[in-house]
Amino acid sequence: MKEITLESKTEDLPGIGSGYRQKLARIGIETAEDLLRHFPHRYEDFSDLTTTDKVKIGEKVCLQGQISEIKNNFTFRRRMIITEAVLRDQKGPLKVVWFNQPYLANQLENQEVILAGKVSKKNQEIYLASPTIEKLKDSPTHTGRIVPIYPESQGLTSRWLRYVIKPLLAALRDQITDYLPAEIITKNELMDLAEAFQQIHFPDSLKKAEAARQRFAFEELFLIQLRTLRAKAQTKKQKADPVPINLPLVKKFVQSLPFELTPDQKIAAWRILQDMNKPQPMSRLLEGDVGSGKTAVMMLAALNTADHGGQIALMAPTAVLAKQHYQTANDFFKDFPIKIGLLTGETRSFNRRQCSVERILDYLKEGKIDLLIGTHSLIQERVKFKNLTLVVIDEQHRFGVRQRARLMKPDQPEKPHLLSMTATPIPRTLALTVYGDLDLSLLKEKPKNRAEVVTQIIKPSQRRTAYHLIRQEIKKGRQAFIVCPRIQSDSEEDQIKTVIKEHQRLSEEIFPDLEVGRLHGQLKEAEKDQILKKFRDNKINILVTTSVIEVGVDIPNATVMVIEGAERFGLAQLHQMRGRIGRANYKSYCLLFTSSPEIETTRRLSAMVKCHDGFELAEKDLAIRGPGSLAGHNQWGVPDLVMANLKDLKMVEQARQTAKDMLDRDPELKKHPELRARVNALEKVVHFE
Ligand code: ADP
Ligand code: MG
Repeated sequence: MKEITLESKTEDLPGIGSGYRQKLARIGIETAEDLLRHFPHRYEDFSDLTTTDKVKIGEKVCLQGQISEIKNNFTFRRRMIITEAVLRDQKGPLKVVWFNQPYLANQLENQEVILAGKVSKKNQEIYLASPTIEKLKDSPTHTGRIVPIYPESQGLTSRWLRYVIKPLLAALRDQITDYLPAEIITKNELMDLAEAFQQIHFPDSLKKAEAARQRFAFEELFLIQLRTLRAKAQTKKQKADPVPINLPLVKKFVQSLPFELTPDQKIAAWRILQDMNKPQPMSRLLEGDVGSGKTAVMMLAALNTADHGGQIALMAPTAVLAKQHYQTANDFFKDFPIKIGLLTGETRSFNRRQCSVERILDYLKEGKIDLLIGTHSLIQERVKFKNLTLVVIDEQHRFGVRQRARLMKPDQPEKPHLLSMTATPIPRTLALTVYGDLDLSLLKEKPKNRAEVVTQIIKPSQRRTAYHLIRQEIKKGRQAFIVCPRIQSDSEEDQIKTVIKEHQRLSEEIFPDLEVGRLHGQLKEAEKDQILKKFRDNKINILVTTSVIEVGVDIPNATVMVIEGAERFGLAQLHQMRGRIGRANYKSYCLLFTSSPEIETTRRLSAMVKCHDGFELAEKDLAIRGPGSLAGHNQWGVPDLVMANLKDLKMVEQARQTAKDMLDRDPELKKHPELRARVNALEKVVHFE
């Protein structure tokens, strides 16, 4: 047999047949190290043995004793084999039951065992239900200790994983050397690698398991920070065309706007103009709540770029948003000599007229289009700019890393400047981790003309009152959004509101006298446009729609936002939807419909009622629901373990500082080849997801 190392392929490991090898491969486990890095997601503490006289119904217990009277029964009614036995310890007997494991009858009679399972009761009889078994001659792996429970998928059970991981740990123990330098281990009080592997799988105590987890979390954060900081240093070395600031033009534009820029908008715009005036590419994230006015800031940068003779690409996640930007740009620039094009899957326009794709592409190549606005269509191979100088990505978390990178002209020596925009409030830890290579501009305060938005939780019994409120608003000339969690339901019994059914119910039963429209992602682009236009022109009073599709739409006349099944959405997402209303000077209402009786729901939704700050809500979501609640989290290429630790600002900052210190001393990581290899491997994962 080959010697086992961390790099050994799973097929060379003992106890893993080809069937299991394939199952492992499907969840990305190919080597011994991958297997060791398949961490348990929780533990069951069976380290305390109890006795049969102390068991309580509903408890999980671990008992040691002797098995007797074991027999199989077949029940015709439930069509399964039930194995019954008696476990006897020094205090007395307890009944034990297993389902569909008839072979146990031959294996366990008169055996001394440890059983771990749940105490249950049926027909006045107390029994231990389907316990895990360990024969006492083995050293305990599955019972009698703190037992790891793994995320189970592909038919890989926790029991099987324990069975292969335990001997692997023993075999590798002496070979695992820590690739984190000793001084980093000491300074950050981390558990050493070999010990951490042991303790995360088979901990001596839950405290040690936690310390092991901390070690791995720190390691991942540290690697990500090394990657981000190196990427940042590399961007600094790249070249870009500096765009001088045409101050009179900028002033003229600002004066032409129908509103005064907020101080935050002014600061952000100024930073952007200064960044772009340098011979290195700008890499900036403009972050601001919905309605904070990112578009105006971005258009200012676009104008200054076009004036310099550079082209601008503005990419939005949906055609509806792209078209809205196109309209806005045409309005903002009506007195400025900027040529604007639109390119989405179905629509192409130039100078407010429809136009063929070929035309657009030709104009673009010849430099006749200054600003091209579009969707994913912009990253097609055939879209070639003459002089792309600024790339703007709206709602950037809706795009994958690779899609964003494609627009950045990787094959050219001179890079365009990059402005990313997002309305998703990103907690500071995450910003430092995931976007650590971007500079950050925040639009914190909203434009002043915003009206008050009242948020209310609406229980099923209050539905009528809520509909009455909608009717009153519409009488005043206002409009309403009604958001449903789904477009249509998969099954008849589904309680979840759908766009299709709600639209029908509202238009036929509740508001037969009003115009009720519906909008969702499965409609054709032309149809969506038509509906949105009607809504914008107030020819539709109530629009039934889904949450994701039209997040950016700007309909200042809408004053009611109803969210059906509000408990299904994250706070940040609810807040985004709430941002659709209160955009003009009318008092507005966000109504959170929920029929969920859970306290947890009430607690979360109450946060919406009290709090109107997107950042605060995002932090709350992170605390209550965990990082999965953050929009776009699956696109950041961040391991789950790291996501789970983003709550821990101290650890994130510590990892960042440690990475900084290390790069200061050794920018290319020459002294730490294994560390460098791991950072480079990460680079691949993050960039080619
Ligand atoms: P977002 O940041 O969500 O993209 P927008 O740029 O779409 O927000 O701006 C929302 C609305 O606010 C638009 O109708 C825009 O014209 C308006 N707006 C932007 N800046 C200001 C301002 N300083 N004062 C008043 N209204 C503004
Ligand atoms: Mg926007």
